[in-house]
Amino acid sequence: MSDHYVKVKVQLEQMKSSGEGAEKEDTDIIDDEVPVASPPASVSPIPASCTTAARRDASKTSVTGRNRSKSRRKLGKDERNTYTKQESDPAPQGTIVAANEGKPLNQIDNERQMLQIKEIGKILLGQTETNGNIVAPNQRPKEFKVGPHCKEDGNTVAKRRKPVTVDTSKAKTSLEALKLSIRHLKWKEFPVGRRSACDIYWHGVSFHDNDNILSGQVNKFPGMIEMLRKINLSRAVRTMQELFPEEYNFYPRSWILPEEYQLFSTQIRLTKNSDASLKPTFIVKPDGGSQGDGIYLIRDPSDLRVIAGSQTKQSVVQEYIHKPLLIDKLKFDIRLYVLVKSLEPLEIYIAKEGLARFCTEPYQEPSQKNLSHVFMHLTNYSLNVQSGNFIHSDSLSSGSKRTFSSVLYRLASKGVDIRKVWSDIISLVIKTIFALVPELKVYYMADIPPGKPGPTCFQILGFDILLMKNLKPVLLEVNANPSMRIEHEQKVSPGVFEYVPSPVDEEVKVGVIRDTLRLMDPAQGKSPASHPEQQQEEMLMEGGSPERRAGEEGGVLPSLFLKQVFPKYTKQFSYLRTVERIAALFLRFLGVKGNMRLGPTGFRTFIRNCKLSNSNLSMASVDILYIDITRRWSNMLPDSREAGMCLQAFVEAFFYLAQRRFKSLPLREQVVSLLEMCEGQLENHGVGGPGGSLPEDSTCSSRRSVSCSRTQPGRTHHPHHTSTAGQDLSAPQLCSPAALRRASSQDYRLRQRPRPPHTHKANVEN
Ligand code: ADP
Repeated sequence: MSDHYVKVKVQLEQMKSSGEGAEKEDTDIIDDEVPVASPPASVSPIPASCTTAARRDASKTSVTGRNRSKSRRKLGKDERNTYTKQESDPAPQGTIVAANEGKPLNQIDNERQMLQIKEIGKILLGQTETNGNIVAPNQRPKEFKVGPHCKEDGNTVAKRRKPVTVDTSKAKTSLEALKLSIRHLKWKEFPVGRRSACDIYWHGVSFHDNDNILSGQVNKFPGMIEMLRKINLSRAVRTMQELFPEEYNFYPRSWILPEEYQLFSTQIRLTKNSDASLKPTFIVKPDGGSQGDGIYLIRDPSDLRVIAGSQTKQSVVQEYIHKPLLIDKLKFDIRLYVLVKSLEPLEIYIAKEGLARFCTEPYQEPSQKNLSHVFMHLTNYSLNVQSGNFIHSDSLSSGSKRTFSSVLYRLASKGVDIRKVWSDIISLVIKTIFALVPELKVYYMADIPPGKPGPTCFQILGFDILLMKNLKPVLLEVNANPSMRIEHEQKVSPGVFEYVPSPVDEEVKVGVIRDTLRLMDPAQGKSPASHPEQQQEEMLMEGGSPERRAGEEGGVLPSLFLKQVFPKYTKQFSYLRTVERIAALFLRFLGVKGNMRLGPTGFRTFIRNCKLSNSNLSMASVDILYIDITRRWSNMLPDSREAGMCLQAFVEAFFYLAQRRFKSLPLREQVVSLLEMCEGQLENHGVGGPGGSLPEDSTCSSRRSVSCSRTQPGRTHHPHHTSTAGQDLSAPQLCSPAALRRASSQDYRLRQRPRPPHTHKANVEN
């Protein structure tokens, strides 16, 4: 019996003996819908990390009450996207507006879709033995061993290699965890920057924290903050939902306010009319908000505050998931860390460990009486920590913040098929990133055009996921700057607070940062033997112990915390990269470096080179299509300072053209058919710009393998079409020659995309 197995057994027994009552309480959590158990031994715990042991004691810093509020604002909160953050709702913190009472609606499809991710149990939860049992992955050592006792020390390597250099001058709240990670790796830190180039630049907020980086690697992608604002994320996922409704049903139905208020009202009215017993609940989230700021629940569109005031506020209103999975009667969400290692080729890693953040008031389904109870409905750490019921715990498996693996243990002990939970989560993560990549590539090309010296990028993202009662994961949001703080504030006497290590945070976050650095080691690939991913695979294959593996610079590092999920599972998911192929066309015709918008000439060239114009689609109609869609999108993106057609507008135009040309097919096949046509034309004639390369694996054969099963009968237009949809371009609306001349004479290409103002805030705990 492996050590791991013994450990799991002991832990489960402890849980059983200490948690009889809790189990009873939980009987309603895991109901008949829950898939039958996999044996608890299949759970892969992430044992107490070496990081805690390796941690310094000197980190306790007392602050007086006077300093406290300042420190809190500056340091004590989660990181989220604060770029051009909107004003919070004037409602006092901790208050939610109540509205009409009734039975909530949840239209998220309860049907669970098991993705056939091959050997997922092996990869994330352990290794499968020939007899079918799952063996735990190798445990991580309690402490790093460095030096002469290492069997396979890396001194030879260390002598040959200069230490990797890391500029930490802009790391902000990640600094503590980053320092520890650099120390573990025996790399070299430059806390105040360096005159010559560093290998890695660690930014606390955005790609632009340090400008003029001409080489190395930066831990942020340009445009990630913008893409992960609530409205943009909703738009990006919605575009994918248009094409792949079943694959993207992990995101609650959402409407963008104020522009979709009418649509929202109408749809809800129709739903209620069809079944009077339905009393849905919605959650309203201000765009650019975080830590639960300005969030409130409503039960009817008329309760929207954004509409009531004269100042309409950009927000997302979303179906409220009213049946979350509960533990100890409490709602919780999961924070998972995901590394996007590169965009081209796309590489995604998921941390095997995450955080579970608990509410501090027992959950009840939303009703008129409890709509304003934030401690019951919102899982944000920053809110719940203010509740008297918040429990700081040194244990990883109790308290208001726990490790995700401790939650999995708990679920496994009750018979939950946690491999399926993991598999669904991985699938959610990959699909969400697919939705973001097209536009990220546009940002990337604008900031770091090919041929211009610049760094490469990677980024750790924080995925916030809710498990429904039936265990289906639901995406709440993605944080571009997840908190990497490993301390929390503790009151030592009245008015005096100190920052004390938070074992749960340290366990998870140091592991994530350290392994991210290991994966980004500039030497990786040069010396295959030192590639940590490979080491991990070898360990799994051989069943060897990571303690005996040499780490960087002769130390022994624990096995990797981060597991590759893409391209590992390329086959299952590549067909979803359709919008990325549209973005590749967009990039080809973008023209001038640094631009993010397509001018009318570029659009015409795209139509001509792809031979899309014919007797049914004159070039005049093309111009009108361009003007119509571009203008509408410009109104929807008021912040934009660049003229021309943005990627989303181009995608809409593309969908429209596909629908016109391939009338009888469902949208997804219309779009794929048009893509193949365009790509074929461009390949044949070698035309178009150098900009957009197609996503890897988007070969014609894989394109053709798109299933025809998910049709949308009766679908005639893209819902973004509020004015153009359904119109026949041969009878255009905007046919004024003056308007056309004006549009085509504008030389959008000469306008460089202005850099966004550097108003990002430091990361704060969410
Ligand atoms: P913020 O960025 O302000 O934290 P989130 O989108 O993460 O905004 O929402 C805050 C909290 O509200 C989440 O942590 C979760 O507990 C709850 N929540 C958000 N969306 C939903 C939803 N659709 N259904 C149920 N609860 C939700």
